[in-house]
Amino acid sequence: MKPTTTNSWLANKLFKLRDEVYTWIKLKVGNGESCRFWSDNWTPFGKLSHFILSDQPSRMGITLNSTVSDLLVAGNWTLPPARSESMVQLHIYLTSLTLTEEEDSYEWVVDDKRSLKYSTNKVYRQLRGHETQVPWDQSVWNAKGIPRHSFLTWLFVLNRCPTRDRLRSWGLQTDATCLLCNQAPESRDHLFYRCPFSGAVWEEVARRCNLQPQLDWDQTMIQMQSLQDHRSYFELQTEIPGGIFEIHAALVLDSCLKVEAS
Ligand SMILES: [Zn+2]
Repeated sequence: MKPTTTNSWLANKLFKLRDEVYTWIKLKVGNGESCRFWSDNWTPFGKLSHFILSDQPSRMGITLNSTVSDLLVAGNWTLPPARSESMVQLHIYLTSLTLTEEEDSYEWVVDDKRSLKYSTNKVYRQLRGHETQVPWDQSVWNAKGIPRHSFLTWLFVLNRCPTRDRLRSWGLQTDATCLLCNQAPESRDHLFYRCPFSGAVWEEVARRCNLQPQLDWDQTMIQMQSLQDHRSYFELQTEIPGGIFEIHAALVLDSCLKVEAS
């Protein structure tokens, strides 16, 4: 099966991941009776239809439905003589393989660890890849935070939220002035720190926590990282940006409704 326009977006995404995920589903050879020689992932080289046929065009008389046990006759492997490097490697591997009485079985081999059970966690981490951990992850993704606020804070750390300076940089015709104070151009740092409204919120919180309020996002993130054990402030880290942004979003919605009504 292949991705087509009649499939859903999700189904096509899964099809595209198939070859990548297939390499983690190994067939553990027991008696070899259900292990398909060409299409199962039973050797260290992966699927033999890829490994051998990319090196030589012929299936050497081994049919598509042949199983591994079909090729072992009276204790001897009945493969044709090796005529390519990939076949030499397969011959060498077969000298180490002994069929048993057990049935063949599938297993997951993710990150060199074998498991009979599928783990969404392990597969997700493998698909995502190993990224370097950012120093501020605990400041944004803390268990005490409201998930919606943590998500917004994450977007603001990356400066990816639709503040007016960004909307204008995308070519949208919108007023540049801050919706909260109507006094200065709206940017991330203005919206959360330099705006008189937000400044007053931060000042009050910082006063209660015996902290010096910072004047921009980057400095605040550095301060948050050094305060990870400071529970009261820690719990507020994502709530304040999230809360301020919700007030801002409500004002944006309000101004849109007024424009529509006029
Ligand atoms: Zn403002």
